This record gives sequence, structure tokens and C-alpha cells, in this order.
Amino acid sequence: MNVSDSERVATQLAAEGYEITARESAADVVLLNTCSVREKAEHKLFTRVGQVGKAAAERGVKKPLLGILGCVAQLEGETLFARSQAIDFVLGTRAVGRVSQAIEKASGGQKFYADLGEREETYDWAVTGAQRHSPYVAFVPIIEGCNKFCTYCIVPFSRGREKSLPASEIVRHVARLRREGIKEVHLIGQNVNSYRPRTDDGLGEFRGATQFSRLLRAVAATGIERIKFTTSFPRDFHPDIVEALNEHENLCNWVHLPVQSGSNRILKLMRRGHTIENYLERIDKIKSSPRRIALTTDIIVGFPGETDEDFQATLDLAEYCKFNSAYVFKYSPRPGTPAHEMSDDVSPQSKTERFLRLDKLIRFHQREVFDDYINRTLEVLAEKISGKHSGQISGHSTCQMVVNFEGVRDLLGKIVKVKILESKANTLYGKIC
Ligand code: SAM
Ligand code: SF4
Repeated sequence: MNVSDSERVATQLAAEGYEITARESAADVVLLNTCSVREKAEHKLFTRVGQVGKAAAERGVKKPLLGILGCVAQLEGETLFARSQAIDFVLGTRAVGRVSQAIEKASGGQKFYADLGEREETYDWAVTGAQRHSPYVAFVPIIEGCNKFCTYCIVPFSRGREKSLPASEIVRHVARLRREGIKEVHLIGQNVNSYRPRTDDGLGEFRGATQFSRLLRAVAATGIERIKFTTSFPRDFHPDIVEALNEHENLCNWVHLPVQSGSNRILKLMRRGHTIENYLERIDKIKSSPRRIALTTDIIVGFPGETDEDFQATLDLAEYCKFNSAYVFKYSPRPGTPAHEMSDDVSPQSKTERFLRLDKLIRFHQREVFDDYINRTLEVLAEKISGKHSGQISGHSTCQMVVNFEGVRDLLGKIVKVKILESKANTLYGKIC
């Protein structure tokens, strides 16, 4: 979501005549887009702010204008000016459409300019090719914000309430990307399957049990080669999503379904709205598909009150699900959330031990899952020349695995069949067949 936000800010500034540079020493304005999901990400911001001022001082030049965007900007607002003199302006998560006004105000001498306002009704969600992270893959936001208020999570405070984009706009956006040569779109949002637009405009002829599964069918009908979507919220994961995947080959075989914990007691304290039993029903439905759907998840270890038994239940769950991969996080208390008021009683040492044990188990299963791809043929989008091995191309399979194979530059942007010969760390290796 943050990469997508940055792409849109760059698109807008370029359209208004600004020149975008990735070289900090060449920049008159530096924008830092921030994350506040965990404390560590917040700390990084202040390290970067310090580096920007220091680099300018070392070169004996004036410090560039420094703007802070994103979740930390939204949450901390004007208080950021007191924490660092180097910050010139602050733009909240829904105020990014007014970035050029902020730059003009700050460069005109206005001090401590902050805009934490709402998004304009006319906000343009499009990104130009020059500002996209990939020439072949595009992010398409379909819903912003979150209404779920899981007790540990800052997102509903930093990103505001859920707001779904009209289906007609999403479908037009994907159709345009297809015409521009994009091969793969990622429909993105904090919880894509909570998609609930105000009207059915754009969904009309497409059937489905939920507006999200109807949207999947509508986007599939654009004929774009590949459609991925993330993140799915377990409580709202309707079996019809798997039916849609079964019907349309261009809906990719990958589901990211964050479970957070294997213990019902902890899930209740987290206020996730799902139990392990409901979660496993969804996993069984996904695994029952005739397609090989890859499963990934997020898990938090060391949530307040998590006992050894609760943690064992998480290990048991990982054993059952055999995820393709998982993001494991140590619980990080976020001020303003309900869990911040609970006692953070799992010691840092236990959090680290649990993190390492779970990570080891997930990697063990990952090996099994990865090795099972050997001798199978995967369709891979050739995205770039591999950074590590020249002569090799790197891309993603429909199941979101990184696949490397020998190939020439002309293949970039094409979807090729690759026979998998080897699996190492997080990558599969194969040859074109
Ligand atoms: N909406 C998605 C869902 O509910 O599944 C997740 C979005 S959240 C930005 C990404 C991940 O960050 C979460 O799935 C969770 O595992 C992790 N996370 C959120 N708050 C956290 C916290 N306070 N400490 C540690 N990890 C956290
Ligand atoms: Fe955070 Fe929960 Fe919303 Fe996901 S669903 S963004 S974890 S509050």
C-alpha cells in the first residue's frame, strides 16, 4: 500500500512539472513515506530524517525541504515538528493529493505546514508507467482504510474507515492497464474481501455471493493475463472466492490469509472476529481446489497474555496449514490501541525464542512445499534480469513464488513456462520448456 501511495505521489508531482529523482543529493525536496505498524518502522523515520540533514551539512549545501507522508504523519501530525527541526511539512494518509500545495507553502516560507485532511472526491488513483515499480506489474487499490479495530493494530487510526472504490472505476482502470501492456495487477487494500462499494455499478452482470467475488469475476472478464489480490481478512473470506479462482485462470493461485495466532483465546483478545475452526474451514476449502493454491499468512508472537500453550497452538496450526511462507512478527505495543493498555507480559527473550521456533518450523514446511514444485512446470512472468546471476531472469509464478531461470532480455514482460529443477532459500530455479 505504501509503495502504491508513493507511486501516485510521484505521478502527480511529475504531471505538475516536478522532476523525480531517486538521488537524494540532487533533490530540492525529499519526501519520506512512513509506516507505523510496528515501533521499529517508526524509529527508522527519525534515523532517516537525521541522515537527510547530516548529508546536506556534510556537502555544505542547504538542507532540502523535507516532507513526511503516510501513517506516522497522520498519527503524529504537528507534534513531529517538535521532535525534529529538520521537518518542513507533514501530509496525512488521505491528504497526499495535495502534495504540491504543501511543497509550495513550505518553499514559500510557511513553517510547520500540516495537512491531515480527507481525500478529495476527485482524487486520481492512476499511476504513470514511469513512476511504477515495475513495467509489467501494477497495484490497483480497491478499498482503503479499515473498520476492524483488531486490538493490537494502529491501521484503523492511521488509515481511517473502510472506503471501497466503485467497481466500474476499478474495471476501467484494469482494462486501461491491460491496453498499456501490464501483465499482472494486484488488487490491494487492508482487507480486499471486505469490499463493499455503495452501488453495484460495474458489477451488474457478474454473479457472486459477495461484492468482492463479483468484482473478481468482473476484473477477470477484462482479459488481463494475471490478477492477484491481497490482503484477505479471514472472517470475510467467503468460499465463493475459491469458486471464482476455480472458474477463471487469470485469477492467480495465491491467497494471503493472515491468521495472527493459533489460539482461540488469543484471537478473542486480539478481537479478530474468527476462530481457529472457521480459519481451518477456509484453509480446507482453499486446499480442496483442483488448482494448487499457494497459501501465505501473517502471525504475531508474544501478544499480551500469550502462554506456552497458546504458542503451541500456533505451532500446531502452522504444522497443519503448511504455508508457502509467513510473515512472523514479534508483538509491538502501539500507543492508542486497546492492547497497549494490556500488560505486555511476554518477555523480550520469550518473544525472540517464540519467533525463532515458529520461523524454523515455517521454513521447514516451506522446504517441503518448495521441493514439491520440483519437476513441475510453472508459468512465470519474466520481470527483470536477476541481480545475483547475470544471464538469469527473475520473475513470479502465478502462485507468487520467485522463480529464476536462464534467459535473454527479450523475454522480459512475457509469461513463459518454466520447469522447476531446484529450490533454494526463497527461490525456485528452473529452465524454460
Ligand atoms: N489487514 C490485514 C489483516 O488483518 O490480516 C493486515 C494488515 S497489517 C498492516 C499487516 C500485519 O502487521 C498484520 O497482519 C499483523 O501480523 C502485523 N501487525 C499489525 N500490528 C502489529 C503489532 N502491533 N505488532 C506486531 N505486528 C503487528
Ligand atoms: Fe489491522 Fe486488523 Fe485492520 Fe488488519 S484487519 S489492518 S490487522 S485492524
